[in-house]
Parts: sequence; structure tokens; C-alpha cells
Amino acid sequence: MKIARVETFLVPPRWLFCRIETDDGLVGWGEPVVEGRAEVVRAAVEVLAEYLVGRDPLRIQDHWQVLTKGGFYRGGPVLSSAVAGLDHALWDIAGKAYGAPVHALLGGAVRDTVRVYAWVGGDEPARLTEEIGAQIDAGFTAVKMNAAGRTDPLTTPAGTAAVVERVAAAREVLGPHRDVAVDFHGRFSPAGARRVLHAIAPLHPLFVEEPLLPEHGHLTAALAASTPVPLATGERLYGRAEFLPVLSAGIAVAQPDLSHAGGITEVTRIAALADTFGAQLAPHCPLGPISLAASLQVAFCTPNFLIQEQSLGIHYNKDADLLSYLVDTEPFRFTGGHARRTALPGLGVTVDEAAVRAADRTGHAWRNPVWRQADGSFAEW
Ligand SMILES: [Mg+2]
Repeated sequence: MKIARVETFLVPPRWLFCRIETDDGLVGWGEPVVEGRAEVVRAAVEVLAEYLVGRDPLRIQDHWQVLTKGGFYRGGPVLSSAVAGLDHALWDIAGKAYGAPVHALLGGAVRDTVRVYAWVGGDEPARLTEEIGAQIDAGFTAVKMNAAGRTDPLTTPAGTAAVVERVAAAREVLGPHRDVAVDFHGRFSPAGARRVLHAIAPLHPLFVEEPLLPEHGHLTAALAASTPVPLATGERLYGRAEFLPVLSAGIAVAQPDLSHAGGITEVTRIAALADTFGAQLAPHCPLGPISLAASLQVAFCTPNFLIQEQSLGIHYNKDADLLSYLVDTEPFRFTGGHARRTALPGLGVTVDEAAVRAADRTGHAWRNPVWRQADGSFAEW
């Protein structure tokens, strides 16, 4: 069996899919994307595909070596995301070739269901309460929210109080048996993050995500030592070598993104590395169905897995949502806030190819918002 062709599809709301077809008709799907830079990743996938065409799709480990190292220059979001999507598609083909789900090929299931969380927005505590109530009614046992929008890096008394008020409102409606995770999104400075962590610690967040920007990763150990709140990070780290310092510094939750951190092949290694630090895996996934399918395959076979993000109804999903490109939406029908394991081969989802091809004709030009402080200077989004 040989790889016959590799195609890419730029589809709303902000995603990029790839499709690998073999000469005997097997098809695998992947999701190689950097949000806001999808066209750049598309070009990278096309360059990497030159190597793959004509080769045996089942030699995933060897292809991963060549695709990540064979160009001499390595790493970074664009190349690591391009490799990630191709890696998803190769695992999908392997599963279909062997008649097994990917998690079975990776050593077999360690759990039958995967806890997922839902995103809640809402800047007003009243609106937030309403949104969390709706997610509880839908069966979810955990939600995630942003701490703040555009913010002063050190925060003002009013800014800090607003964060506390919103997290307290969430805790009130969730009660002591459900969870709220809080995403700082790197919007506070390190000192601001320390201040806000201290203020919300009594509300027992499940974890606080990206309390520091990736470039401030060297301050993680001091921050972790200053707070009882479990720290999470990883959506902007692209391989195990980048996770090693933050794991050594004491993060509790590693959040590689299956579409950014080298795919299934590398995220399983990151999970194993995290396990040696007693840290748990919670893959980042505000993305599309193939990225989520890959995440779930890893979750089913990873002992130190914590919880999975998913994008159903997330504010980014305009014009298309998580289920828009699937023939069968059953794999993402969450019951009691959990996804259920199936024996479907490969990634376990059936992509609606006609819908994907039609959507690619429209494409998208999604870009991250650019925020400014009141004085006109750049603000972290
Ligand atoms: Mg985040």
C-alpha cells in the first residue's frame, strides 16, 4: 500500500483539514491548523506531502521522524501543526487498514468514557450563571471560562474583584461536585497572575490555564510554588522538549493540542513524560471534529488523562460547528458530560466529504482579534 495523494481543505469556521488517500482506496483525515494562520499551515502540508506520496502509510513513526527532522529546521507552530494533521490522517489509515480504533493500536483502552468540558462565556455574572445552568442541564460536570477580557497586566482592584465575582458566581451554580476551570490566556503579567491566583484560590478552580505566556515559562516554578491552584499550560507548546521545563517547574496539567503538538504520535509521548511528574493530560481542543476525534483516541488509552476540551457551541463556531462535517454525529453525543468509546476503526469518525469539499470552495479568512489598551498600545488577546 502506498500513499497516492494528499489534499487540504480550508473550511469554516476557521479550520484546515487534510485527506490522505492510498492506492488501494483507504482514506485518512487530519486537522493541521494554526488558528488565524491556516493558509500558512496549508502551504507547509503541501511541501511535506511531497515526501509522503509514494510511500507506505503504515510507517508512521518513520514518517514522523523525517517530517519533523528531515528539513533540518524543526519545531514551531506551523511545521508542528502541519505534521500533526498528517499524523492524524496516517493513524486514521492505519486503524482502517488493521480494522481497529487508534486507541487499540496504541496499547488498548484504559477507560470506557472520557469526561469533556464545555466552554462558557458571559462577562456578566448573571449571564454566566445562565450559561452554566444550560450546560449542567445538558449533562456537563465541568466548564471552562476566561478570567477576563482585555485587562491591565497587573490588574486593578476592580479588575481583580470582577474575576472573583465571576468565578464565585460559577462556583455557586456548579456546587462542590462540579468543576470550573479558568483560562488566563496569558493576559496578565506574571505579577498580575500571582495576584489573581491568590484571589480566586478559595473558590477551588479545577485548574488555571496559561497563567503565564509561553515566553515567561521560566517563571513557572516560582508561580507554582506561590499558589495551591493547579496550573495548566501547553496549547502554545509544540513538543515534549518544550513540555519538559514546565513539567519540571510543577505544572499540574499538560495541555498539548493534537493539532499543534505533532499529532497523536507526539502527544502520547508528552502524556508519558507528564506521568513521570505526576501531571495529568487535558488536551486543548477548541477546534474541529478531526482534532477532537484524535484527542479522544489518546484519552481512551492514556492512564494519566484528566479531561477533554471540545468546541460544541463555542463562540468561534460561526457558519459551522463541531458536527457540521460528520456523516454520523453519534461519537460526539455526550452523555452525562462524557464521550463514550466505540470500536469504530481509525479515528472513529466518518467525515462528510461532500460537505468538506463544498465548504472549501467558500473557505475562510479567520484572524485572531487584535486588542489595544486604552492608551493605544498592544494588549494580549
Ligand atoms: Mg486556553
